[in-house]
Amino acid sequence: MQLILDSTKIQGYLACPRKYWYQYELGWRHDEPNINLIFGEAWHLGMEVLLKHGYSQDALAYANLILEEKYREHFAEIMDSSYYPKTPGFASEMLSRYVKQYSNDHDEFDVLYTETSGCVSVGHKREVYFKVDSILRGTSGMRKNRYFSLEHKTSTSQHWLPHGLVVQLGTYSHVLYCLYGPDTYGVVVNGAIFQKTKPSLIRLDMPKTPIQMQVWLATVNYWIDLIEREHEFYENEKDNDFDVMHSFPLNPTSCQDYGRICEYYDFCTAWGNPASRRDSIPFGFIVDKWDPRAQKTTHKMNLTETPKAPSREIQRLACDRWKHLENNIWRREYK
Ligand code: SF4
Repeated sequence: MQLILDSTKIQGYLACPRKYWYQYELGWRHDEPNINLIFGEAWHLGMEVLLKHGYSQDALAYANLILEEKYREHFAEIMDSSYYPKTPGFASEMLSRYVKQYSNDHDEFDVLYTETSGCVSVGHKREVYFKVDSILRGTSGMRKNRYFSLEHKTSTSQHWLPHGLVVQLGTYSHVLYCLYGPDTYGVVVNGAIFQKTKPSLIRLDMPKTPIQMQVWLATVNYWIDLIEREHEFYENEKDNDFDVMHSFPLNPTSCQDYGRICEYYDFCTAWGNPASRRDSIPFGFIVDKWDPRAQKTTHKMNLTETPKAPSREIQRLACDRWKHLENNIWRREYK
């Protein structure tokens, strides 16, 4: 069985295999809207308007409208004081600040695509699903005639913006390399820091060289190997009445990520074999399995067969993490 994986799932497995199991294999999540996810989606819609229509006052008003519309599908105005500064009012101030701070943007790049999803090959019969916020071609400076993705991230702290080694940023660059080969630049993180007292906008360039991409490809395949192995292990043990679940082990270093206690903490503390309880959904949870194929985006792409991707043979080798120790041919292919 081929698993449907994207960067979010792979990164989630790295954080904690047991959390990955709860979240993606069972699909258990709290039965209430997640402010960070909804606000992030709304901000993305606003950003897309500005990329497509420029930074005029009309475009700004339209971006505000679209952002608020999305937000209000889930949160009424009465909730704004609880969620401040992640509210449409504060976002509107941030959008105004954005068009001022980056007023030259449309002289510095051409917008080729916004909000694009699809799947891309990373190995022999192995695909990863993706969604990139934009694909741009630089028209000046160090990004001139090179292709890059401007990825919008909202956060309450600059320290929580993604760094250059996260799986997701590698996937975006991999998509670009498959489309544009050596003319690829990489990713620019387009951060918006929603702090009450010191809000700010920050951009972080994350260019990727071919050798860095080769490292990413090997790393991603290593982790996919483990996820597939763990999934198989789970399928074999799930119907047995063991006291302890062995597959998808716990990683207790992730229980308090971002200063919040993990939503599955009580289960990990109380249950030896949660697989035996998988059909009894706990109170306050619903089943909502994340499927990256179901994302609604402006463009769709299938990059499972692209001439600029690393060759099929190379991907087959990258897929097997042991073989690269014996054969280094594939290392030279990411050019
Ligand atoms: S509580 Fe900790 S060990 Fe359990 S799923 Fe969450 S992060 Fe993993």
